[in-house]
Amino acid sequence: MRIGHGYDAHTFTEGKPLVLGGVTIPYDKGLKAHSDGDAVIHSLCDALLGAAALGDIGTYYPDTDDKYKNIDSRILLKDVMKTIKEKGFKVGNADITILAQEPRLLPYVNEMRKILSSDMEISIDDINIKATTTEEMGFVGRKEGVCVYTICIFY
Ligand code: MG
Repeated sequence: MRIGHGYDAHTFTEGKPLVLGGVTIPYDKGLKAHSDGDAVIHSLCDALLGAAALGDIGTYYPDTDDKYKNIDSRILLKDVMKTIKEKGFKVGNADITILAQEPRLLPYVNEMRKILSSDMEISIDDINIKATTTEEMGFVGRKEGVCVYTICIFY
């Protein structure tokens, strides 16, 4: 059995859609990034690469490469899954915690689980997503951005 941990944080910016876990969420800001800013998928990819001892997302998809500008992070997730499958690893389950003061994410969690489990070709029951505020503490609490933690297991 192997375990992986991933973390990602992005700041809010005007003029970009908010995409988390592959779902476009109605909000007046998006997340600043070279890609679509999907911190849920980035955190998940880092957990997967971590469990495989394959470095991190920045190694494979550098934000200095124009090829990845505004890229749909689901493409990156599918590519990471391909890489770990080629290495013979199987995902047991993944547990994701999103920290956001705004917007409320609970209504979108099941759609995220559907999208991620489909892209990862795993059962929806093997992916959990939790969303919490930080009770107005810290950068998340000041609504400067969001951060996401993920752990996953391979068997
Ligand atoms: Mg990121």
